[in-house]
Amino acid sequence: MSELMTKPTPRPGIMDIAAYVPGKSHGTGAGKVHKLSSNETPLGPSPKAVAAIQAVAEHLELYPDGQSSALREAIAAKYGLNTSNIICGNGSDELLGLLAHIYLGHGDEAIITEHGFLVYKIQILANGATPVTVKEKDQTVDVDAILAAVTERTKIVFIANPANPTGTYIPFSEVRRLHAGLPSNVLLVLDAAYAEYVRRNDYEAGLELVAENGNVVMTRTFSKIYGLAALRVGWLYGPHDIIDALERVRGPFNLNAPAIAAATAAVKDDAFTRAAVDFNTGWIERLTSELTALGLTVTPSVTNFVLIHFPDEDGKRAADADRYLSERGYILRAVAGYGFPNALRMSVGVEEANLGVIEALKAFLGREAKTA
Ligand SMILES: *Cc1c(COP(=O)(O)O)cnc(C)c1O
Repeated sequence: MSELMTKPTPRPGIMDIAAYVPGKSHGTGAGKVHKLSSNETPLGPSPKAVAAIQAVAEHLELYPDGQSSALREAIAAKYGLNTSNIICGNGSDELLGLLAHIYLGHGDEAIITEHGFLVYKIQILANGATPVTVKEKDQTVDVDAILAAVTERTKIVFIANPANPTGTYIPFSEVRRLHAGLPSNVLLVLDAAYAEYVRRNDYEAGLELVAENGNVVMTRTFSKIYGLAALRVGWLYGPHDIIDALERVRGPFNLNAPAIAAATAAVKDDAFTRAAVDFNTGWIERLTSELTALGLTVTPSVTNFVLIHFPDEDGKRAADADRYLSERGYILRAVAGYGFPNALRMSVGVEEANLGVIEALKAFLGREAKTA
């Protein structure tokens, strides 16, 4: 009879997870909607990627290539890497999850930072380990704070560089200093989802550090600059032992055939990617200066989004702005869950969307404060 009373019970940690909430995609007004809440590119994918999917669509009865060989070879050729050091995932989210699954268990700790990407914490908890959150400095990863938090239980350090939702980065000298301070049994995960957008001489995504060491991996995604978020494609560059472990655990056909075909075509279309970077750089600079001119504080960004901080004033806080913009068809990302209760994250959109947000925020800030 006690069997009647019991029920399947998740492992410890699972019910501590706050499920990931994606950026909203619907406005509250009646008109056109600009979704600026998920860091998607407004330029769409390369036409060559779309054509590649159409070719595959004739043969959906066939299993995909379980090794994603064409894609891994195209990535290896582009960056001058060994194909055998690359593994692809169903989004980089899958790869981050597999790393946690392989290297973390009950009693282990993994270090994340104050405003870090929420997927890390979810995956740490999902594997029964303990997330150890360290402070950032000026909304930027703080290497000293991470090193100070390392214990004998630490198994992984997760950082996004550049980071989401802040858009900030640490120079490569700092990444090297972080690595140098970690014991060799601690895995350093460099999530470089926005690497393609960065135009800074002191930035590197981490290829060299991976090549030189046994305890560093770098993850990348096709969801951002390549405009293939719908297909779920990510990749990881890592040392042989780590790739070997990942290969044993991943699903045998973790990438679908349209995804492999489209990503392979996209990675070869350098002209398309370069144009996307140019478009983005111009708008990041313009958005930052125009929003600052309105009296808002914008965190300096090297990515395709800006973190906008609102006044601590009745009627003018982030939640008020979110509502105001939403009614006018501009969907930004609330980031309270990332430790920014009074900020919104805005992805670079098409010109009409970017200018529309600037105009709307001007009107929003200029209006009389509502009395309660
Ligand atoms: C968008 C993003 C990713 C990409 O995830 P996918 O699963 O590849 O779509 C990874 N890390 C960070 C920090 C991101 O913002």
